[in-house]
Amino acid sequence: MQTEAMPIHTTVTTASQLANLDLDNLQFGKVFADHMLVVDYADGAWQDPQIVPYGPIEVSPATAALHYGQALFEGMKAYKTVDGQVVLFRPRDNWARMNESAKRLCMPEIPEEIFMEGLKQLISIDADWVPQRQGYSLYIRPFMFGSEGLLGVRPANSYKFIIFCSPASSYYAEPVRVKIEEYYTRAVEGGFGYAKAAGNYGGSLLPAKLAGEQGFHQIIWTDGREHNYIEESGTMNVMFVIDGTLVTPALSTSILAGITRDSVLTLARDWGMKVEERRIPIQEVVDAYAAGKLQDAFGTGTAATIAHIKSITFRDQEMELPPLAEREFSNRVSKELDAIRYGQAPDPHVWVVPVQ
Ligand SMILES: *Cc1c(COP(=O)(O)O)cnc(C)c1O
Repeated sequence: MQTEAMPIHTTVTTASQLANLDLDNLQFGKVFADHMLVVDYADGAWQDPQIVPYGPIEVSPATAALHYGQALFEGMKAYKTVDGQVVLFRPRDNWARMNESAKRLCMPEIPEEIFMEGLKQLISIDADWVPQRQGYSLYIRPFMFGSEGLLGVRPANSYKFIIFCSPASSYYAEPVRVKIEEYYTRAVEGGFGYAKAAGNYGGSLLPAKLAGEQGFHQIIWTDGREHNYIEESGTMNVMFVIDGTLVTPALSTSILAGITRDSVLTLARDWGMKVEERRIPIQEVVDAYAAGKLQDAFGTGTAATIAHIKSITFRDQEMELPPLAEREFSNRVSKELDAIRYGQAPDPHVWVVPVQ
């Protein structure tokens, strides 16, 4: 029996921008697909979802999110497989994480059907915006904010949940120089670092800018209490290969549970690699480097999948990592995840979800 899809009122654009899409000169997050999904929360309930042409939204100057930061987001991608099918990668995990973030910020949770059906129907309408090119994708940005115009400090009574999309080119970044940050903090235990909250990003811009002025591409954050344990790298999770073991900080309230992180750990375990999720003292990385056992270091996240780290600076010591060609694990896992997404490898964990 065929289940009937949730009906979503749709207004198709009369001014498609697709013809202007130039895949050869794509800047991340600058061009947006034709449509967006908009769902309002009011009177204690989610209202009917709508798909409308992408465009500005009107908000009151007193909008809660703009003053008190009730704003969160997600980041995910749609891919076109080698045989032309449009697929999503672990979208239910984004839905579940969005609701974890929502709970932390006293925002209403989104029912699975609204998120998943809204997402699938939006991506179906804009399927031509998913580039069919190796490494390319349609970046998807679900977000939610408190939309009530009221200056009182309390959770808003109304919210907007929106999904819009932006085509993304193959993200190949040069391996990054990172510094271990011992003063600024991204998140603390008991805070909301595990939520994909807009405020976490606002607070990380200055330390990132200062690190940039010192010649670093990225910060390795340390714990807010002692600045003694590794947390994340920029806006990515961070992993090391030390003497053949894959090591990454254990999840906590100050670390975001990356879906790429989980995918990488899962594949490593599938391949019989030793994996450890635990606290990582900075000194352990320094000692491993001195002993010649620091074989790999990389960030994991949806945008880049794997961001190789070229060197790690701790105080006045710059620790150079082995050349890329020698990074067996990170190269293999990066290739395997791409192959799964583009339909070129088996998908034993059923991570790939077709939109139609
Ligand atoms: C989004 C994010 C990540 C990566 O999560 P993915 O689900 O792998 O994209 C890691 N750390 C922070 C702080 C993030 O915001």
